[in-house]
Amino acid sequence: MFSQLKPVAIDPILGLMAAYREDPNPLKVDLGVGVYKDEQGHTAVLKCVKEAEALRLKHEDSKTYVGMAGDPSFNTHIEKLAFGATHTVLLANRVVTAHTPGGTGALRVAAEFIKRANPDATIWVTTPTWANHISLFQAAGLKVKEYAYYDYDTKGLQVEQMFADLEQIPAGDVVLVHACCHNPSGMDLNFEQWQRFTAIAKERGFTPLVDMAYQGFGAGLDEDAAGLRYLAEQVPEMILCSSCSKNFGLYRERIGAVSVVGSNSKETDVVRANLLSVVRGIYSMPPTHGAIIVSHILDSAELTALWHDELAEMRNRINSYRQLIIDKFTAEGITQDFSFIARQHGMFSFLGINKAQIERLRSEFSIYMVGSSRVSISGLNHANIDYFAKAVATVLK
Ligand code: PMP
Repeated sequence: MFSQLKPVAIDPILGLMAAYREDPNPLKVDLGVGVYKDEQGHTAVLKCVKEAEALRLKHEDSKTYVGMAGDPSFNTHIEKLAFGATHTVLLANRVVTAHTPGGTGALRVAAEFIKRANPDATIWVTTPTWANHISLFQAAGLKVKEYAYYDYDTKGLQVEQMFADLEQIPAGDVVLVHACCHNPSGMDLNFEQWQRFTAIAKERGFTPLVDMAYQGFGAGLDEDAAGLRYLAEQVPEMILCSSCSKNFGLYRERIGAVSVVGSNSKETDVVRANLLSVVRGIYSMPPTHGAIIVSHILDSAELTALWHDELAEMRNRINSYRQLIIDKFTAEGITQDFSFIARQHGMFSFLGINKAQIERLRSEFSIYMVGSSRVSISGLNHANIDYFAKAVATVLK
């Protein structure tokens, strides 16, 4: 039977990671993978996480199963973090949350849940979007279509085309929108654009699915959630998928959450039953290590303050490199306009260079970035930024 299987291409980012590992050049630079690295090029465990893990070791007294929704304390915390503690949807008991294996798990559960609610639903994603969105939704049996988003010429958003596309989407379909720090482009909706998005969602009746994988990496925890909070106040129903991989540095612990907002607390009971039965059919119950770490941090004012500081340090380091890249490019004599880098948010920047230039950076300089010219900024540090800027100047000549 297995001989019937057809070969499957490996995810380009995973291929890139392997090629980087095997490259013997001591000057090699990894700008591929979406993982935060510090000035030393290390992805350290956050101090708040270490302390929470010590607490867990001390206080955990059972390894019995949790329910399908996972850790209730985590779920309450993550809802407050995302929506804000006093959001109307929380006060009205309109939200059902299940913690999931990572943000990817949240998206997969959301996809299966959507399929139950409407097996014919199409899910609309931004052009471009995180590559895994498309394969994940298709694997769940949903149709995937794209709406205009990033403008490769102006390095901004295709604002009018995007709203024109959204105006065509019917009720019964789902529209995925990135809460902040759009992956891969780094270009986000501003608040006024969130308001327009919301007005169209209400008028058309489609269901928004907000993917928030980088809360706190753009402008701040509340700032990055402002658009989705507004949306949630206005629309009758929506889905939020969040991830603690980046903002708590818990990548391999696989912790995220799916929150479904129903139109009233009665409908929410049916939502809950369906959501949990979807979970039961996939992995039954989520792993709890990451959830309990996050709960311990958010239960403690002291650990929360430490987390805020560590998160701000990551965010500020990335943001300071945005201007530094522009300055170094100018110092290397690059005349092309790269000022757009400063307008992008989050972990990534789309450099907008071509395939041949990306390939030369890899073959001649051992600088690795994905084929779209998406750069994971925290791969840069004071030891390699000049090398990077010189290499880019060389391939742009
Ligand atoms: N959504 C987006 C847009 C992402 O970039 C990522 C991570 N790369 C995820 C979801 C999922 O993150 P994870 O499963 O690692 O929590």
